[in-house]
Amino acid sequence: MDLTEVFKKTRPCFSLEIFPPKDHQGGVETIYETLDGLKDVRPEFISCTYGAGGNLADGSTIEICSIIKEKYGILPISHLTCVNNSKENIDYILERLKERGITNILALRGDLKPGQQPEKDFAHASDLIEYIRQRDPEFFISGACYPEGHPDSDDLITDVLDLKKKVESGAQHLISQLFFNNEDFYRFRDRCELAGIDVPIEAGIMPVTNKQSILRMVSMCGASIPAKLAKILNRFEDKPKALEEACIAYAIDQIIDLISNDVDGVHLYTMNKPYIAQRIFEVIGPMR
Ligand code: FAD
Repeated sequence: MDLTEVFKKTRPCFSLEIFPPKDHQGGVETIYETLDGLKDVRPEFISCTYGAGGNLADGSTIEICSIIKEKYGILPISHLTCVNNSKENIDYILERLKERGITNILALRGDLKPGQQPEKDFAHASDLIEYIRQRDPEFFISGACYPEGHPDSDDLITDVLDLKKKVESGAQHLISQLFFNNEDFYRFRDRCELAGIDVPIEAGIMPVTNKQSILRMVSMCGASIPAKLAKILNRFEDKPKALEEACIAYAIDQIIDLISNDVDGVHLYTMNKPYIAQRIFEVIGPMR
């Protein structure tokens, strides 16, 4: 089943994101531990990040997507960034994906490391999306979106108009950046509707369980921390187990509210921690 069918049949859709193991010099084998724990959550698809802080050329994203498909029988989405890739590289990756029967791509601009020069072929995700669409219409293409606006955007209107360009270029589905206040997501959904964006939008939920990592994360992606979550982080920062329980409960609360508000899908940023995803889906499972 491809993603078009998934969104026709399943609402809300539940999906997961993993990343290649950081210490995979000897291979990607440690990902099995993560996937063994995630398979019982029965996600509609699992996406795997590409080059986020890692080595772009090592092929681990494609390898992991193959494992997701072949060993676990789950639909994979391969992330792919373009600001650091030439057309030649993109062609090479698309061919490798096709060889392995992976036809779902989350097409992204990506970010440059300080001092790194961008490649010249693609400036924005929409350029990559258009390129893939014209090169091979068989790929199902997803894009990223930002309920609180992308940090580079001048304002929320420009942000949504750029998102419209992304959809017009061929994005068939959107996955949101993490957010902690559902009202931000609902306002964003309203802006999309006004702009005529009519593809399924999945809400990105990250169950953070460590105060330092959440602060680092939001400083990078521009998401805000509502007072309710800030109080939880302050109250339990020195009690890791209590903080973990409180953050799992916070994520569950967010997801129940999203489902009640007719969300198209929930995309869980698992941080490769299957235990937390399992805990969340024990509660959410019956709501499917
Ligand atoms: P774009 O869509 O190009 O947007 C970037 C900025 O340019 C925005 O301000 C936008 O408003 C503006 N813009 C967009 N199109 C145009 C246009 N046509 N003309 C003018 N301005 C425009 N990063 C990784 O390195 N690897 C990953 O695997 C990864 N996975 C991610 C998954 C999700 C769900 C999300 C939300 C983000 C992910 N990222 C990943 C981070 C992402 O690469 C960054 O957020 C990056 O800064 C923007 O990527 P984008 O595809 O949204 O860019």
